[in-house]
Amino acid sequence: MQRYDLFIDGESRKPVSGEWFPTDNPYLGAPWAEIALGGAEDVDDAVQAAHRALHTGPWADLTASGRGALLRRLGDTIAAHARSLAETEVRDNGKLFTEMYGQLSYVPQWFHYYGGLADKIEGTVPPMDKKGYFTYTKKEPVGVVAVITPWNSPLLLLAWKIAPALAAGCTVVIKPSEFTSASTVELVRLFHEAGLPPGVVNVVTGFGQDVGVPLVEHPLVRKITFTGSDATGRHINQNAARDFKHVSLELGGKSPNIVFADADLGAAVNGAISGIFAATGQTCIAGSRLLVQDSVHDEVVRRVVELAGTARMGDPMDQSTQVGPITTPAQHAKVLDYIDIAQREGAHLALGGRAADRPECGDGWFVEPTIFTGVGNSMRIAQEEVFGPVLAVIPFTDEDEAVRLANDSRYGLGAGVWTSDIGRAFRTADRIRSGTVWVNTYRAVSYMAPFGGFKDSGIGRENGIDAVSGYLETKSVWINTGAPTGNPFVLR
Ligand code: NAD
Repeated sequence: MQRYDLFIDGESRKPVSGEWFPTDNPYLGAPWAEIALGGAEDVDDAVQAAHRALHTGPWADLTASGRGALLRRLGDTIAAHARSLAETEVRDNGKLFTEMYGQLSYVPQWFHYYGGLADKIEGTVPPMDKKGYFTYTKKEPVGVVAVITPWNSPLLLLAWKIAPALAAGCTVVIKPSEFTSASTVELVRLFHEAGLPPGVVNVVTGFGQDVGVPLVEHPLVRKITFTGSDATGRHINQNAARDFKHVSLELGGKSPNIVFADADLGAAVNGAISGIFAATGQTCIAGSRLLVQDSVHDEVVRRVVELAGTARMGDPMDQSTQVGPITTPAQHAKVLDYIDIAQREGAHLALGGRAADRPECGDGWFVEPTIFTGVGNSMRIAQEEVFGPVLAVIPFTDEDEAVRLANDSRYGLGAGVWTSDIGRAFRTADRIRSGTVWVNTYRAVSYMAPFGGFKDSGIGRENGIDAVSGYLETKSVWINTGAPTGNPFVLR
């Protein structure tokens, strides 16, 4: 079995524990590699290395343009290895090769974009209201950044964090999900082969309590950027607050996908399916609540059920597979549990509703694409994140009710609006409380468009020009160009 070590200060390292733990292939339902079991001492080594690299050596000496050029080279390195990195991700998280290869082919753009931005991070010279001073501001890296990622799209979500962090001049310690660590270790090894100086990007693998907690609490870590569940995000936020550390949190969602009667129903049906069944529903932006206007409700349900019923399940490496397995047995059990809960709450099961036992699914952790109709928005299936291929269909009568239902959620990550009325498109986009609203499309993301959540879906934005400011401190420098300091008891 392949074995993955830690990566600290430019080299592969064995964990202090001297132990490794298995990582599973969700399609085979069996382990395929071993991951180093990191702990607090490894975290300290990695943070110390990141801290040294921040203040001394080649990274600290690099100009902003040099950093940009290096970032672009890292992007090229990913592009050259996109296929093998995608294969590792599929082996580890079970998502479709077509999806992971698509992501890995796109990830280089984050490094090119933020590489281009690295030498455009500028300070200002405020005109000032006082005579005898020249005052300027400069932007400095916030410090060592802890990067904590989930299992659903490990390298895409990692790129959203480390590309702007490195552009800002920070150094990082990554703690990938214990379920999908392999691709992150492979990527960071490739970065060093491409010339990234030691200590700039480090990886400590292991579990949340053993690695995540000491990393968040380490006194030399100044910022934590996290993507994962809101339960963990809350814990990290409380932990970070004790030492006034910066945080950005990308958390869960229960995103509404709203179909108005005036929509192109064919497009809306495709959008509904891709919103929830692509990535087997294991995406934070899953359109898990389908809100459908009364007059087209039955037709939309019929078409969505019919199309979802044709989804091909099986080997995620096979390019004709449309729905892959669930990444972990615990998540598989959780999805089935929610299916039970929905039935007990009185929702009507219109499709699926069980673990898949198709021969092409082998021993993998599959769940049939599942659709519930007659869902009330207060039911748990409409309020809690399932993170699986389970769609809750909720009817509405008019625009006001659609907006009210859409916003009746503690989350606010994404929302879809399907309509042919331009005025309605703008109105609903204005009124929905979520970080992203897609009109007549769903699940589109870009390195250029800010992404993040309202309410319990998180704090801060990733992607776009502003994301880099999350990794910067602003310093004001005052130069006295006038008289020497006079009366020391008077504020100047
Ligand atoms: P998770 O919260 O269980 O774990 C995420 C990471 O946090 C893992 O690396 C884990 O080891 C670590 N961790 C766990 N406890 C910790 C602690 N106390 N301190 C520090 N680190 C700790 O999430 P997951 O199950 O891996 O991912 C699924 C969740 O991620 C879903 O809720 C989903 O909505 C969310 N998600 C959000 C986005 C987004 O951008 N908003 C994107 C993808 C996934």
